[in-house]
Amino acid sequence: FLAKVHDNDLVKTAGFINGQWVAAMDGSTIEVNNPATDEIIANVACMKAADTKSAIAAASAAFPSWSHKTAKERGSVLRRWYDLVVAAEDDICTIMTVESGKPFKESKGEFVGGAASIEWFAEEGRRVEGDIFATVQQDRRMLAIKQPVGVVAAITPWNFPMSMITRKVAPALAAGCTVILKPAESTPLTALALAELAHRAGIPDGVLNILVGDAKAIGDTLMESAAVRKIGFTGSTRVGKLLFAAAADTVKKVSLELGGNAPFIVFDDADIDQAAAGVVSSAFRNAGQTCICANRIFVQEGIYDDFVDAVTKKVGEFKQGGGLDPSTTLGPLIGHKAVEHVSGHVEDAVAKGATVTIGGKIPDLPEPYNKGSFYAPTVISGATTDMKIFREETFGPAIPLFKFSQDEEAVQLANNTEYGLAAYFFTKDLKRSWKVAEALEFGMVGVNEVGITSEVAPFGGIKHSGIGREHSKYGMDEFLYVKYIQMGLG
Ligand code: ADP
Repeated sequence: FLAKVHDNDLVKTAGFINGQWVAAMDGSTIEVNNPATDEIIANVACMKAADTKSAIAAASAAFPSWSHKTAKERGSVLRRWYDLVVAAEDDICTIMTVESGKPFKESKGEFVGGAASIEWFAEEGRRVEGDIFATVQQDRRMLAIKQPVGVVAAITPWNFPMSMITRKVAPALAAGCTVILKPAESTPLTALALAELAHRAGIPDGVLNILVGDAKAIGDTLMESAAVRKIGFTGSTRVGKLLFAAAADTVKKVSLELGGNAPFIVFDDADIDQAAAGVVSSAFRNAGQTCICANRIFVQEGIYDDFVDAVTKKVGEFKQGGGLDPSTTLGPLIGHKAVEHVSGHVEDAVAKGATVTIGGKIPDLPEPYNKGSFYAPTVISGATTDMKIFREETFGPAIPLFKFSQDEEAVQLANNTEYGLAAYFFTKDLKRSWKVAEALEFGMVGVNEVGITSEVAPFGGIKHSGIGREHSKYGMDEFLYVKYIQMGLG
Protein backbone atom coordinates (compact mmCIF):
# COMPACT_ATOMS: atom_id res chain seq x y z
CA PHE A 1 0.00 0.00 0.00
CA LEU A 2 3.07 2.23 0.30
CA ALA A 3 2.78 2.92 -3.43
CA LYS A 4 -0.57 4.63 -2.76
CA VAL A 5 0.88 6.91 -0.06
CA HIS A 6 2.48 10.04 -1.57
CA ASP A 7 4.61 10.99 1.43
CA ASN A 8 6.24 7.72 2.50
CA ASP A 9 7.80 9.44 5.49
CA LEU A 10 4.36 9.36 7.10
CA VAL A 11 4.49 5.57 7.33
CA LYS A 12 6.35 4.88 10.56
CA THR A 13 6.86 1.65 12.45
CA ALA A 14 8.75 2.87 15.53
CA GLY A 15 7.43 4.51 18.67
CA PHE A 16 7.83 8.26 19.22
CA ILE A 17 9.43 9.38 22.49
CA ASN A 18 10.91 12.78 23.30
CA GLY A 19 10.85 13.85 19.66
CA GLN A 20 12.70 10.71 18.47
CA TRP A 21 11.55 7.64 16.53
CA VAL A 22 12.62 4.70 18.66
CA ALA A 23 12.43 0.90 18.39
CA ALA A 24 11.23 -1.14 21.37
CA MET A 25 14.09 -1.47 23.89
CA ASP A 26 13.91 -5.26 23.63
CA GLY A 27 13.83 -5.07 19.83
CA SER A 28 10.48 -6.87 19.51
CA THR A 29 7.79 -6.06 16.93
CA ILE A 30 4.14 -6.92 16.25
CA GLU A 31 2.32 -7.38 12.97
CA VAL A 32 -0.37 -5.07 11.62
CA ASN A 33 -2.75 -6.56 9.07
CA ASN A 34 -5.34 -5.40 6.56
CA PRO A 35 -8.62 -6.89 7.79
CA ALA A 36 -10.08 -6.91 4.27
CA THR A 37 -7.43 -9.36 3.01
CA ASP A 38 -5.64 -10.59 6.14
CA GLU A 39 -2.31 -9.48 4.56
CA ILE A 40 0.45 -8.22 6.86
CA ILE A 41 1.06 -4.55 6.04
CA ALA A 42 3.67 -3.61 8.67
CA ASN A 43 5.69 -4.75 11.64
CA VAL A 44 5.70 -2.08 14.33
CA ALA A 45 7.64 -1.79 17.58
CA CYS A 46 6.20 -3.78 20.47
CA MET A 47 6.93 -1.48 23.39
CA LYS A 48 6.60 -2.52 27.02
CA ALA A 49 7.23 -1.22 30.55
CA ALA A 50 10.77 0.14 30.06
CA ASP A 51 9.75 2.11 26.94
CA THR A 52 6.73 3.45 28.82
CA LYS A 53 8.92 4.70 31.69
CA SER A 54 11.07 6.53 29.17
CA ALA A 55 7.96 8.22 27.69
CA ILE A 56 6.71 9.19 31.15
CA ALA A 57 10.10 10.77 31.92
CA ALA A 58 10.00 12.70 28.63
CA ALA A 59 6.43 13.93 29.14
CA SER A 60 7.20 14.96 32.73
CA ALA A 61 10.32 16.87 31.69
CA ALA A 62 8.42 18.68 28.92
CA PHE A 63 5.48 19.70 31.11
CA PRO A 64 6.91 22.82 32.84
CA SER A 65 7.83 24.66 29.65
CA TRP A 66 4.74 23.56 27.64
CA SER A 67 2.34 24.50 30.43
CA HIS A 68 4.04 27.87 30.87
CA LYS A 69 3.54 28.85 27.24
CA THR A 70 0.61 31.12 26.65
CA ALA A 71 -2.58 29.57 25.34
CA LYS A 72 -2.06 31.59 22.18
CA GLU A 73 1.40 30.10 21.62
CA ARG A 74 0.09 26.56 22.13
CA GLY A 75 -2.86 27.32 19.87
CA SER A 76 -0.52 28.46 17.07
CA VAL A 77 1.44 25.20 17.22
CA LEU A 78 -1.80 23.20 17.16
CA ARG A 79 -3.02 25.25 14.23
CA ARG A 80 0.19 24.40 12.31
CA TRP A 81 -0.42 20.73 13.11
CA TYR A 82 -3.98 21.06 11.79
CA ASP A 83 -2.74 22.67 8.55
CA LEU A 84 -0.20 19.89 7.95
CA VAL A 85 -2.80 17.22 8.76
CA VAL A 86 -5.24 18.75 6.28
CA ALA A 87 -2.52 18.84 3.61
CA ALA A 88 -1.92 15.10 4.19
CA GLU A 89 -5.60 14.13 4.01
CA ASP A 90 -5.36 11.55 1.25
CA ASP A 91 -2.34 9.80 2.73
CA ILE A 92 -3.87 9.61 6.20
CA CYS A 93 -7.13 8.27 4.77
CA THR A 94 -5.25 5.62 2.78
CA ILE A 95 -3.31 4.49 5.86
CA MET A 96 -6.50 4.46 7.95
CA THR A 97 -8.41 2.49 5.34
CA VAL A 98 -5.75 -0.17 4.95
CA GLU A 99 -5.22 -0.82 8.66
CA SER A 100 -8.86 -0.53 9.83
CA GLY A 101 -10.73 -1.85 6.78
CA LYS A 102 -13.22 1.01 6.59
CA PRO A 103 -14.23 2.23 3.12
CA PHE A 104 -12.14 5.19 1.91
CA LYS A 105 -15.21 7.44 1.92
CA GLU A 106 -15.78 6.66 5.60
CA SER A 107 -12.10 7.36 6.30
CA LYS A 108 -12.66 10.78 4.71
CA GLY A 109 -15.64 11.31 7.00
CA GLU A 110 -13.62 10.38 10.05
CA PHE A 111 -10.77 12.56 8.81
CA VAL A 112 -12.95 15.68 8.59
CA GLY A 113 -14.21 15.21 12.15
CA GLY A 114 -10.79 14.24 13.47
CA ALA A 115 -9.09 17.27 11.94
CA ALA A 116 -11.91 19.54 13.18
CA SER A 117 -11.08 18.52 16.77
CA ILE A 118 -7.55 19.87 16.35
CA GLU A 119 -8.72 23.10 14.76
CA TRP A 120 -11.44 23.69 17.35
CA PHE A 121 -9.30 23.02 20.43
CA ALA A 122 -6.46 25.12 19.01
CA GLU A 123 -8.93 28.01 19.38
CA GLU A 124 -10.76 26.87 22.51
CA GLY A 125 -7.53 26.82 24.53
CA ARG A 126 -7.61 30.61 24.37
CA ARG A 127 -11.05 30.72 25.98
CA VAL A 128 -10.19 28.95 29.24
CA GLU A 129 -11.52 31.27 31.93
CA GLY A 130 -11.68 31.45 35.71
CA ASP A 131 -14.07 33.19 38.15
CA ILE A 132 -13.98 35.95 40.72
CA PHE A 133 -16.59 35.36 43.42
CA ALA A 134 -18.69 38.05 45.13
CA THR A 135 -16.98 38.63 48.45
CA VAL A 136 -18.55 37.79 51.82
CA GLN A 137 -15.76 39.39 53.85
CA GLN A 138 -14.37 42.87 53.16
CA ASP A 139 -10.79 41.90 53.99
CA ARG A 140 -10.44 39.18 51.37
CA ARG A 141 -11.10 38.30 47.73
CA MET A 142 -11.75 34.89 46.31
CA LEU A 143 -11.11 33.63 42.83
CA ALA A 144 -10.62 30.46 40.81
CA ILE A 145 -8.24 29.78 37.95
CA LYS A 146 -7.89 26.70 35.77
CA GLN A 147 -4.56 24.95 35.29
CA PRO A 148 -3.45 21.91 33.25
CA VAL A 149 -3.62 18.63 35.16
CA GLY A 150 -0.13 17.49 34.09
CA VAL A 151 0.98 14.41 32.16
CA VAL A 152 -1.95 12.75 30.38
CA ALA A 153 -2.17 9.12 29.22
CA ALA A 154 -4.50 8.53 26.27
CA ILE A 155 -5.49 5.00 25.23
CA THR A 156 -7.50 4.69 22.02
CA PRO A 157 -9.31 1.97 20.06
CA TRP A 158 -9.06 0.74 16.46
CA ASN A 159 -12.53 1.66 15.21
CA PHE A 160 -11.65 5.35 14.74
CA PRO A 161 -7.85 5.34 14.34
CA MET A 162 -7.68 9.13 13.95
CA SER A 163 -10.62 10.88 15.59
CA MET A 164 -10.39 9.08 18.94
CA ILE A 165 -6.83 10.40 19.14
CA THR A 166 -7.40 14.01 18.15
CA ARG A 167 -10.39 14.46 20.49
CA LYS A 168 -8.07 13.61 23.41
CA VAL A 169 -4.68 14.90 22.32
CA ALA A 170 -5.83 18.30 20.98
CA PRO A 171 -7.64 19.48 24.14
CA ALA A 172 -4.89 18.06 26.35
CA LEU A 173 -2.18 19.96 24.47
CA ALA A 174 -4.32 23.11 24.23
CA ALA A 175 -4.82 23.00 28.00
CA GLY A 176 -1.05 22.81 28.56
CA CYS A 177 -0.77 19.11 29.37
CA THR A 178 1.83 16.78 27.87
CA VAL A 179 0.63 13.48 26.44
CA ILE A 180 1.56 9.81 26.16
CA LEU A 181 -0.69 8.16 23.60
CA LYS A 182 -1.13 4.43 23.20
CA PRO A 183 -3.16 3.67 20.06
CA ALA A 184 -4.74 0.25 19.46
CA GLU A 185 -2.38 -2.55 18.38
CA SER A 186 -4.37 -3.12 15.21
CA THR A 187 -4.30 0.52 14.00
CA PRO A 188 -1.02 2.16 15.09
CA LEU A 189 -0.04 3.55 11.66
CA THR A 190 -2.55 6.41 11.59
CA ALA A 191 -1.40 7.50 15.06
CA LEU A 192 2.25 7.43 14.00
CA ALA A 193 1.51 9.49 10.88
CA LEU A 194 -0.24 12.08 13.06
CA ALA A 195 2.82 12.14 15.34
CA GLU A 196 5.15 12.76 12.39
CA LEU A 197 2.99 15.73 11.37
CA ALA A 198 2.92 17.02 14.97
CA HIS A 199 6.72 16.84 14.98
CA ARG A 200 6.90 18.78 11.69
CA ALA A 201 4.47 21.35 13.11
CA GLY A 202 6.93 22.11 15.90
CA ILE A 203 5.27 20.44 18.86
CA PRO A 204 8.27 20.39 21.23
CA ASP A 205 10.10 17.20 22.17
CA GLY A 206 8.37 15.22 24.93
CA VAL A 207 5.06 17.08 24.61
CA LEU A 208 3.48 14.29 22.51
CA ASN A 209 4.80 10.72 22.83
CA ILE A 210 3.41 7.60 21.16
CA LEU A 211 3.83 4.10 22.55
CA VAL A 212 2.87 1.18 20.32
CA GLY A 213 2.83 -2.44 21.37
CA ASP A 214 1.95 -4.46 24.44
CA ALA A 215 -1.32 -3.00 25.75
CA LYS A 216 -1.15 -4.52 29.21
CA ALA A 217 2.51 -3.75 29.90
CA ILE A 218 2.14 -0.16 28.66
CA GLY A 219 -1.24 0.30 30.37
CA ASP A 220 -0.09 -1.06 33.73
CA THR A 221 3.03 1.12 33.73
CA LEU A 222 1.05 4.26 32.86
CA MET A 223 -1.55 3.52 35.53
CA GLU A 224 1.04 2.82 38.26
CA SER A 225 2.92 6.05 37.60
CA ALA A 226 2.27 8.89 40.04
CA ALA A 227 3.50 11.33 37.38
CA VAL A 228 0.57 10.49 35.07
CA ARG A 229 -2.27 12.67 36.38
CA LYS A 230 -5.05 11.80 33.97
CA ILE A 231 -6.22 8.88 31.86
CA GLY A 232 -8.42 9.42 28.82
CA PHE A 233 -9.67 6.11 27.43
CA THR A 234 -11.98 4.95 24.66
CA GLY A 235 -12.59 1.23 24.33
CA SER A 236 -14.39 -1.71 25.85
CA THR A 237 -16.28 -1.51 29.12
CA ARG A 238 -14.17 -4.43 30.37
CA VAL A 239 -10.83 -2.62 29.94
CA GLY A 240 -12.36 0.71 31.03
CA LYS A 241 -13.33 -0.79 34.37
CA LEU A 242 -9.80 -2.17 34.84
CA LEU A 243 -8.34 1.27 34.18
CA PHE A 244 -10.87 2.98 36.45
CA ALA A 245 -9.87 0.65 39.28
CA ALA A 246 -6.15 1.07 38.53
CA ALA A 247 -6.52 4.87 38.58
CA ALA A 248 -7.63 4.75 42.21
CA ASP A 249 -4.19 4.03 43.58
CA THR A 250 -2.70 7.31 42.38
CA VAL A 251 -6.10 9.13 42.26
CA LYS A 252 -5.85 10.07 38.59
CA LYS A 253 -8.49 12.13 36.86
CA VAL A 254 -10.42 9.77 34.59
CA SER A 255 -12.48 10.02 31.38
CA LEU A 256 -13.88 6.82 29.94
CA GLU A 257 -15.80 6.36 26.70
CA LEU A 258 -16.95 2.75 26.83
CA GLY A 259 -19.45 0.47 25.16
CA GLY A 260 -22.97 1.38 24.11
CA ASN A 261 -26.10 -0.52 23.20
CA ALA A 262 -27.92 2.29 21.44
CA PRO A 263 -31.70 2.16 21.11
CA PHE A 264 -33.36 3.61 18.03
CA ILE A 265 -37.12 4.21 18.42
CA VAL A 266 -39.32 4.74 15.39
CA PHE A 267 -42.74 6.15 16.37
CA ASP A 268 -45.72 5.66 14.11
CA ASP A 269 -45.79 9.33 13.05
CA ALA A 270 -42.16 9.26 11.83
CA ASP A 271 -41.16 9.77 8.22
CA ILE A 272 -40.52 6.10 7.43
CA ASP A 273 -38.00 6.70 4.64
CA GLN A 274 -36.02 9.18 6.70
CA ALA A 275 -36.07 6.90 9.75
CA ALA A 276 -35.05 3.84 7.70
CA ALA A 277 -32.18 5.81 6.16
CA GLY A 278 -31.21 6.93 9.68
CA VAL A 279 -31.18 3.37 11.02
CA VAL A 280 -29.07 2.10 8.15
CA SER A 281 -26.64 5.01 8.29
CA SER A 282 -26.18 4.70 12.05
CA ALA A 283 -26.19 0.91 12.40
CA PHE A 284 -23.86 0.12 9.50
CA ARG A 285 -21.34 2.94 9.93
CA ASN A 286 -17.89 1.37 10.11
CA ALA A 287 -19.58 -2.02 9.55
CA GLY A 288 -21.48 -1.54 12.81
CA GLN A 289 -18.31 -1.05 14.82
CA THR A 290 -18.93 2.24 16.59
CA CYS A 291 -19.97 2.67 20.20
CA ILE A 292 -22.91 4.86 19.09
CA CYS A 293 -24.22 2.58 16.32
CA ALA A 294 -27.98 1.93 16.53
CA ASN A 295 -27.99 -1.53 18.08
CA ARG A 296 -31.64 -2.17 19.05
CA ILE A 297 -34.41 -0.84 16.81
CA PHE A 298 -37.86 -0.42 18.40
CA VAL A 299 -40.65 0.14 15.87
CA GLN A 300 -44.26 1.01 16.72
CA GLU A 301 -46.65 -1.78 15.70
CA GLY A 302 -48.69 0.17 13.11
CA ILE A 303 -45.66 0.73 10.86
CA TYR A 304 -43.60 -2.32 11.82
CA ASP A 305 -44.02 -4.37 8.63
CA ASP A 306 -43.48 -1.39 6.32
CA PHE A 307 -40.42 -0.42 8.28
CA VAL A 308 -38.88 -3.90 8.11
CA ASP A 309 -39.35 -3.81 4.32
CA ALA A 310 -37.85 -0.33 3.98
CA VAL A 311 -34.77 -1.19 6.05
CA THR A 312 -34.25 -4.56 4.34
CA LYS A 313 -34.38 -2.90 0.93
CA LYS A 314 -31.80 -0.26 1.89
CA VAL A 315 -29.48 -2.84 3.47
CA GLY A 316 -29.59 -4.82 0.20
CA GLU A 317 -27.81 -1.91 -1.50
CA PHE A 318 -24.50 -2.35 0.36
CA LYS A 319 -21.47 -3.58 -1.54
CA GLN A 320 -18.80 -5.31 0.53
CA GLY A 321 -15.10 -5.35 -0.29
CA GLY A 322 -11.74 -3.67 0.36
CA GLY A 323 -11.85 -0.06 1.49
CA LEU A 324 -9.64 1.30 -1.29
CA ASP A 325 -12.01 -0.05 -3.96
CA PRO A 326 -14.23 2.98 -4.73
CA SER A 327 -17.35 0.84 -5.17
CA THR A 328 -17.14 -0.55 -1.61
CA THR A 329 -19.74 0.78 0.80
CA LEU A 330 -19.30 -1.75 3.63
CA GLY A 331 -15.96 -2.99 4.91
CA PRO A 332 -14.83 -5.98 6.95
CA LEU A 333 -14.92 -6.35 10.71
CA ILE A 334 -11.64 -5.80 12.54
CA GLY A 335 -10.92 -9.54 12.83
CA HIS A 336 -12.28 -13.06 12.63
CA LYS A 337 -13.21 -13.12 16.33
CA ALA A 338 -15.51 -10.17 15.71
CA VAL A 339 -17.21 -12.11 12.92
CA GLU A 340 -17.81 -15.03 15.32
CA HIS A 341 -19.34 -12.63 17.87
CA VAL A 342 -21.81 -11.17 15.34
CA SER A 343 -22.76 -14.54 13.89
CA GLY A 344 -23.27 -15.83 17.45
CA HIS A 345 -25.80 -13.03 18.05
CA VAL A 346 -27.63 -13.80 14.81
CA GLU A 347 -27.73 -17.58 15.46
CA ASP A 348 -28.99 -17.02 19.01
CA ALA A 349 -31.78 -14.74 17.71
CA VAL A 350 -32.83 -17.23 15.05
CA ALA A 351 -32.81 -20.09 17.59
CA LYS A 352 -35.15 -18.00 19.77
CA GLY A 353 -37.64 -17.38 16.97
CA ALA A 354 -36.44 -14.32 15.01
CA THR A 355 -36.40 -14.13 11.20
CA VAL A 356 -33.43 -13.04 9.08
CA THR A 357 -34.84 -10.81 6.32
CA ILE A 358 -31.45 -10.28 4.65
CA GLY A 359 -27.87 -11.45 5.31
CA GLY A 360 -27.29 -13.73 8.26
CA LYS A 361 -24.14 -15.31 6.88
CA ILE A 362 -20.51 -14.89 5.96
CA PRO A 363 -20.62 -13.49 2.40
CA ASP A 364 -19.10 -15.20 -0.58
CA LEU A 365 -16.54 -12.62 -1.76
CA PRO A 366 -13.91 -12.97 -4.51
CA GLU A 367 -10.12 -13.09 -3.91
CA PRO A 368 -8.46 -11.50 -1.96
CA TYR A 369 -11.46 -10.58 0.19
CA ASN A 370 -12.41 -14.20 0.80
CA LYS A 371 -9.65 -14.15 3.44
CA GLY A 372 -10.95 -10.97 5.05
CA SER A 373 -13.13 -10.81 8.16
CA PHE A 374 -16.48 -10.00 6.53
CA TYR A 375 -20.04 -10.61 7.70
CA ALA A 376 -23.01 -9.88 5.43
CA PRO A 377 -25.19 -6.91 6.42
CA THR A 378 -28.09 -8.43 8.31
CA VAL A 379 -31.61 -7.45 9.37
CA ILE A 380 -33.53 -9.47 11.96
CA SER A 381 -37.27 -9.10 12.44
CA GLY A 382 -39.35 -10.44 15.29
CA ALA A 383 -36.57 -9.80 17.83
CA THR A 384 -37.38 -10.21 21.54
CA THR A 385 -35.76 -9.18 24.81
CA ASP A 386 -34.55 -12.69 25.73
CA MET A 387 -32.04 -12.56 22.85
CA LYS A 388 -28.33 -11.78 23.24
CA ILE A 389 -28.73 -9.14 20.54
CA PHE A 390 -30.99 -7.17 22.93
CA ARG A 391 -28.72 -7.40 25.96
CA GLU A 392 -25.20 -7.21 24.47
CA GLU A 393 -23.50 -4.80 22.11
CA THR A 394 -23.28 -6.53 18.69
CA PHE A 395 -20.50 -4.32 17.23
CA GLY A 396 -21.14 -5.57 13.73
CA PRO A 397 -23.46 -5.24 10.74
CA ALA A 398 -26.56 -6.93 12.18
CA ILE A 399 -29.66 -5.14 13.49
CA PRO A 400 -32.65 -6.53 15.36
CA LEU A 401 -36.11 -4.92 14.97
CA PHE A 402 -38.41 -5.12 18.00
CA LYS A 403 -42.14 -4.27 17.99
CA PHE A 404 -43.78 -2.01 20.62
CA SER A 405 -47.20 -0.42 21.07
CA GLN A 406 -47.08 2.41 23.72
CA ASP A 407 -44.53 5.25 24.07
CA GLU A 408 -43.79 4.31 27.69
CA GLU A 409 -43.05 0.75 26.63
CA ALA A 410 -40.51 1.98 24.05
CA VAL A 411 -38.72 4.15 26.60
CA GLN A 412 -38.65 1.28 29.09
CA LEU A 413 -37.19 -1.09 26.50
CA ALA A 414 -34.65 1.53 25.46
CA ASN A 415 -33.52 2.11 29.05
CA ASN A 416 -33.41 -1.61 29.82
CA THR A 417 -29.64 -1.88 29.43
CA GLU A 418 -26.60 -1.35 31.59
CA TYR A 419 -25.28 1.04 28.94
CA GLY A 420 -26.11 4.72 28.48
CA LEU A 421 -24.19 6.26 25.59
CA ALA A 422 -26.31 7.27 22.57
CA ALA A 423 -30.03 6.92 21.82
CA TYR A 424 -32.07 7.94 18.80
CA PHE A 425 -35.73 8.38 17.99
CA PHE A 426 -37.80 9.58 15.05
CA THR A 427 -41.15 11.37 15.44
CA LYS A 428 -42.80 14.55 14.18
CA ASP A 429 -44.56 15.26 17.48
CA LEU A 430 -43.04 18.08 19.54
CA LYS A 431 -44.43 17.03 22.93
CA ARG A 432 -43.31 13.47 22.39
CA SER A 433 -39.84 14.73 21.41
CA TRP A 434 -39.33 16.57 24.69
CA LYS A 435 -40.80 13.83 26.86
CA VAL A 436 -38.88 11.00 25.27
CA ALA A 437 -35.58 12.93 25.03
CA GLU A 438 -35.79 13.66 28.76
CA ALA A 439 -36.82 10.14 29.72
CA LEU A 440 -34.00 8.35 27.88
CA GLU A 441 -31.15 7.45 30.26
CA PHE A 442 -28.34 8.17 27.83
CA GLY A 443 -25.58 10.78 27.53
CA MET A 444 -26.55 11.72 23.95
CA VAL A 445 -29.90 11.71 22.16
CA GLY A 446 -30.49 12.20 18.42
CA VAL A 447 -34.02 13.31 17.53
CA ASN A 448 -34.77 12.80 13.83
CA GLU A 449 -31.00 12.79 13.29
CA VAL A 450 -28.20 10.26 13.62
CA GLY A 451 -25.06 12.28 12.79
CA ILE A 452 -24.68 13.53 16.35
CA THR A 453 -20.89 13.71 16.73
CA SER A 454 -19.43 17.22 16.56
CA GLU A 455 -16.39 18.95 18.00
CA VAL A 456 -18.65 21.64 19.50
CA ALA A 457 -20.98 19.26 21.40
CA PRO A 458 -20.33 17.09 24.48
CA PHE A 459 -19.77 13.41 23.64
CA GLY A 460 -20.03 10.81 26.39
CA GLY A 461 -22.13 8.37 28.33
CA ILE A 462 -23.65 7.46 31.67
CA LYS A 463 -24.02 4.13 33.52
CA HIS A 464 -21.56 1.51 32.19
CA SER A 465 -20.88 3.63 29.09
CA GLY A 466 -18.47 5.87 30.88
CA ILE A 467 -17.63 9.01 32.71
CA GLY A 468 -16.55 12.44 31.51
CA ARG A 469 -17.15 14.20 28.20
CA GLU A 470 -15.08 14.74 25.08
CA HIS A 471 -15.31 17.67 22.66
CA SER A 472 -16.86 21.08 23.46
CA LYS A 473 -16.04 23.27 26.45
CA TYR A 474 -16.78 20.28 28.71
CA GLY A 475 -14.12 18.24 26.94
CA MET A 476 -11.60 21.00 27.64
CA ASP A 477 -12.37 20.93 31.36
CA GLU A 478 -11.35 17.26 31.55
CA PHE A 479 -7.71 18.36 31.19
CA LEU A 480 -7.86 21.23 33.68
CA TYR A 481 -8.21 21.47 37.42
CA VAL A 482 -9.76 24.34 39.32
CA LYS A 483 -7.49 26.19 41.71
CA TYR A 484 -9.12 28.42 44.30
CA ILE A 485 -7.03 31.38 45.42
CA GLN A 486 -7.90 33.61 48.35
CA MET A 487 -6.21 36.98 48.73
CA GLY A 488 -6.19 38.66 52.11
CA LEU A 489 -6.41 42.43 51.99
CA GLY A 490 -6.34 43.02 55.74
P1 ADP B 1 -11.86 -3.16 21.74
O1 ADP B 1 -12.76 -4.26 22.19
O2 ADP B 1 -12.53 -2.02 21.11
O3 ADP B 1 -10.60 -3.63 21.07
P2 ADP B 1 -10.26 -2.68 24.03
O4 ADP B 1 -10.78 -2.09 25.28
O5 ADP B 1 -9.73 -4.06 24.06
O6 ADP B 1 -11.44 -2.47 23.04
O7 ADP B 1 -9.16 -1.76 23.39
C1 ADP B 1 -9.14 -0.35 23.48
C2 ADP B 1 -7.74 0.10 23.80
O8 ADP B 1 -7.39 -0.40 25.09
C3 ADP B 1 -6.68 -0.42 22.83
O9 ADP B 1 -5.70 0.59 22.65
C4 ADP B 1 -6.09 -1.57 23.58
O10 ADP B 1 -4.76 -1.86 23.20
C5 ADP B 1 -6.13 -1.05 25.00
N1 ADP B 1 -6.04 -2.07 26.05
C6 ADP B 1 -6.45 -3.35 26.02
N2 ADP B 1 -6.17 -3.97 27.18
C7 ADP B 1 -5.57 -3.06 27.99
C8 ADP B 1 -5.04 -3.06 29.32
N3 ADP B 1 -5.09 -4.14 30.07
N4 ADP B 1 -4.51 -1.92 29.80
C9 ADP B 1 -4.47 -0.80 29.04
N5 ADP B 1 -4.95 -0.73 27.79
C10 ADP B 1 -5.49 -1.83 27.26
